[in-house]
Amino acid sequence: MPEKKDKINPIDVAMKQVDMAAEKLHLEPGLREKIKQTKREVIVHFPVKMDDGRIKVFAGYRVQHNMTRGPGKGGIRYHPDVDLDEVRALAMWMTWKAAVVNIPFGGAKGGVQCDPKSMSLQELENMTRRFTWEIAPMIGPEQDIPAPDVYTNPQVMAWIMDTYSTLKGYSVHGVVTGKPLELGGSSGRYEATGKGVFITALEATKLRKIKIRGARIVVQGCGNVGGIAAQYFDKAGAKVVAISDSKGGIYNKKGLDISKVLDCKKKYSCVISPKTKLGDELTNEDLLELDCDILVPSALENQITKENAPKIKAKIIAEGANGPTTPDADRILHAKDIFLVPDILANAGGVTVSYFEWVQNLQELLWTEAEISERLTRIMRRSFAEVFQISRKEKIDMRTAALILGIGRVAEATRLRGIYP
Ligand code: NAD
Repeated sequence: MPEKKDKINPIDVAMKQVDMAAEKLHLEPGLREKIKQTKREVIVHFPVKMDDGRIKVFAGYRVQHNMTRGPGKGGIRYHPDVDLDEVRALAMWMTWKAAVVNIPFGGAKGGVQCDPKSMSLQELENMTRRFTWEIAPMIGPEQDIPAPDVYTNPQVMAWIMDTYSTLKGYSVHGVVTGKPLELGGSSGRYEATGKGVFITALEATKLRKIKIRGARIVVQGCGNVGGIAAQYFDKAGAKVVAISDSKGGIYNKKGLDISKVLDCKKKYSCVISPKTKLGDELTNEDLLELDCDILVPSALENQITKENAPKIKAKIIAEGANGPTTPDADRILHAKDIFLVPDILANAGGVTVSYFEWVQNLQELLWTEAEISERLTRIMRRSFAEVFQISRKEKIDMRTAALILGIGRVAEATRLRGIYP
């Protein structure tokens, strides 16, 4: 396990990143201060009736970091470690991400501190509905649009949409994205983030002259992002040699049978099968240090730190997760000439197709899967090219380049709007 992982505060990481990019952009101090601050933060404590009749009080958060370029956009996380600083950092990364792919959204994020694995479906529904009610005044299609994140899914989005619609008295599809298809969800949204990770990693392989067929892929996390990304790599002929979840990972140097792994995850909520051996077991820490072509961290923050970065052997890292690498680790990876596709670029496929879903909801029309795929691919490739061009021109790493692109766009929008009154 990377040492001192628990002590790294994501908001400190996010702030360091802004300072670094702001320096390169020569942003004046007032503007820098404005874009570093969150616009609005709400903490709610709310009661939920549990199955055994007890009343449990949960803490929930919604943070709108910046809405200069459009309504707030960002997922809702259910996890025991959720706190205000984590949500702040995740909201800030959403702002830069939407700007990197140049879609007209600001950045927001939400979460509830809870242990969803120990809760029944009914308890999750009760908690989701009451949390939605608590934050209802600050969300809506024109102001702030939640989406799924760690341990939330299309069902949770359906409950949010229903609760919000009940409050309004009519159906409001555009209040959340990542909904089930039956409720105005978009085709391709479920796959979007993992697919975007694959598309951007593929661009990186072209630059590094690595053939995708036969390339060795290691994926940390086997959820919406990691599981789907693994499928895309597998379909392209790459060998997914290792994959993990919160309980540990499995490794097979010849390549894992990804459909069997995903079946196992679905059946037992675990990639390590209690029945059949799908691969040799290994820890999440060892998995990150495996010899491979592409490493895809797709779980939580602060996985690659200054402690384990020197031992990373991947040639390319495509960040499916938000904030998996600390700034100290970034410097080490860059010095080792590892090509890093940063989170705000690599995992931006999700917010991109969320934007498509929102547009379809507002216009009350449906795009085909082919249209979504074509538009997503075009945006991901264009954004990758723009970030790479900055990195080459300025002789800087890909993360700094992406931050310069994203923060630069937000700063320019702020300048153009001016200050009221
Ligand atoms: P998910 O709930 O679908 O899956 C999370 C996965 O991570 C699960 O397999 C879980 O077992 C695993 N995991 C949890 N803790 C772990 C640990 N300590 N070590 C290893 N694995 C662990 O969540 P997701 O939507 O796939 O999100 C994963 C990451 O991707 C998060 O950082 C999230 O913010 C980011 N992200 C998600 C989206 C999206 O559209 N869902 C978009 C952009 C970024």
